[in-house]
Amino acid sequence: MANEWMQQAACADMDANIFFPSDHDPLIRNAEMVLAKKTCMGCDVREECFSYSMKHEEGGGIWAGLTEAERARHRIVWSRKM
Ligand code: SF4
Repeated sequence: MANEWMQQAACADMDANIFFPSDHDPLIRNAEMVLAKKTCMGCDVREECFSYSMKHEEGGGIWAGLTEAERARHRIVWSRKM
């Protein structure tokens, strides 16, 4: 992993696909999103993950418990503080 904090991530040993929910089945997509967000809520490096996601537009997926659309809204506020 590129950043040291990523080694402490709750998602480090999980299937990355859970954090990039499937498009084709809404039920599976919802289940994956709930699991990803729940994992993020208990992650020790969520703040680091949030900062990273604000600085790097990674595209889709769940980062720091936030969807792409949620991160886009946070990024507006976050960029004004920087
Ligand atoms: S906050 Fe979520 S996506 Fe970020 S490192 Fe932790 S578990 Fe992974």
